[in-house]
Amino acid sequence: MKFAIPLPEVTTVPVVGGDPFPVRRIYCVGRNYAAHAREMGHDPNREEPFFFMKPADAIVPTDTVVPYPSKTSDYHHEIELVVALGKGGSNVPVEKALGLVYGYAVGLDMTRRDLQSVAKKMSRPWDLSKGFDQSAPCAPLSLASKIGHPDKGEIWLKVNGEVRQHGDLSDLIWNISETIAYLSNFVELAPGDLIFTGTPEGVGAVNKGDVLEGHVDGLTNLTVTIG
Ligand code: MN
Repeated sequence: MKFAIPLPEVTTVPVVGGDPFPVRRIYCVGRNYAAHAREMGHDPNREEPFFFMKPADAIVPTDTVVPYPSKTSDYHHEIELVVALGKGGSNVPVEKALGLVYGYAVGLDMTRRDLQSVAKKMSRPWDLSKGFDQSAPCAPLSLASKIGHPDKGEIWLKVNGEVRQHGDLSDLIWNISETIAYLSNFVELAPGDLIFTGTPEGVGAVNKGDVLEGHVDGLTNLTVTIG
């Protein structure tokens, strides 16, 4: 088929021992670890999960220099477990949700915290505080068929070698199955969708030259440098 303009590039995430994974949509869960909800001034009781999105092309691969973004002076890291869907569906029952998962990766939900604070205060959308260019660094995916479905294990982020965030996947308020099932009540999920599952406590600002190293037990580490 001929197109009016050159076809936009398909964003992909590398797969350990497999072909690149094409990204369709990026969903993100807010406040999914109790201690992080508390540090952001919220009640960590099991209120229903909420979601926001980033554009698919916000993905950047590991071992990349990510430019310090415009229009912020409070650029924050949020280390997260990323779930990649190989199958889709609507109204997916919790007990079937893991059947949609293709694999898992370590990701960063980079955030213009100052813009997000203004948006919250003014009851405005979060889009440009969360869904900006290169706001979703993501390490290579590991296949669920090889590593299984993690329900516990350490998640941490180091900045310049110093631990800034540390948690355990068992502390997720809404686990992976519940998150997929709940989200599928609002949208039809499809192959190529990524879900960033929320961040543990310890979010904070980064500066030019900082080296971020993210880890989830059993997965490939993510390393990015702020340029
Ligand atoms: Mn987040």
